[in-house]
Amino acid sequence: MSLYAEKAVVLRTWKLGEADRILSLLTETHGKVRAVAKGVRKSTSRIGGRLEPFSIIDVRLWKGTGELQRIAQVDLVHGHSALHSDFLRLSKASAIMEIVDRIALEEMDSSVLFRLVTRALGTLNEGDSPLFLGVFLLRLLELEGFAPQLDCCGICGSSEDIAYFDIETGEVACSAHAGGFELSRSVLDLLRRARAGRTRELLGEQDPDDSRVFETIAARYAQQSFAVELRSLRGVIL
Ligand SMILES: [Zn+2]
Repeated sequence: MSLYAEKAVVLRTWKLGEADRILSLLTETHGKVRAVAKGVRKSTSRIGGRLEPFSIIDVRLWKGTGELQRIAQVDLVHGHSALHSDFLRLSKASAIMEIVDRIALEEMDSSVLFRLVTRALGTLNEGDSPLFLGVFLLRLLELEGFAPQLDCCGICGSSEDIAYFDIETGEVACSAHAGGFELSRSVLDLLRRARAGRTRELLGEQDPDDSRVFETIAARYAQQSFAVELRSLRGVIL
């Protein structure tokens, strides 16, 4: 057995037996880790409350030969408590946890993903934005090699009259090559600005046109690319 220290985000938790809990963690440098926390569901546990989804923790982990590691000690860095008290933000944060749990691998270099996820949770904890989830998902898609192609029609190469986005291919199409999601000019503009990294500007817009369509396109394209169905977004996206 070896003991090591990590910073981590709690992605998911499951009950185990009477008093224990299993956690899926995204660590800062060791990728995804599954670990068991012994006795944390007892009322006397001092660390149980630190092990909720969206929490950032400093954790000491025992790594043995088995699949599950063991949590030796936990300190809460940030609980992101506002995310637990607002349904819409809870849904968005849960969707992020669902996707990251799906795409993160054990022992991967997770530092860039960890930074993206922790910053996103911090931003969302401060306050919601109608464009938040779409912007985050497009950043994540780009990081994972699925940046959408938004410049010209994927079929004929025309940059004029772009009117559709194909969820299957991640490409836009012109009006002559109808297929996929219909794109208004304003949604195409939002997608292009998100791809260009204009995050701060987009998150500052309080009531942009078509924000729900933008968010839906990003979420559906992410579901398709990462082969995951985001249960937490039922009722949130179109
Ligand atoms: Zn075309």
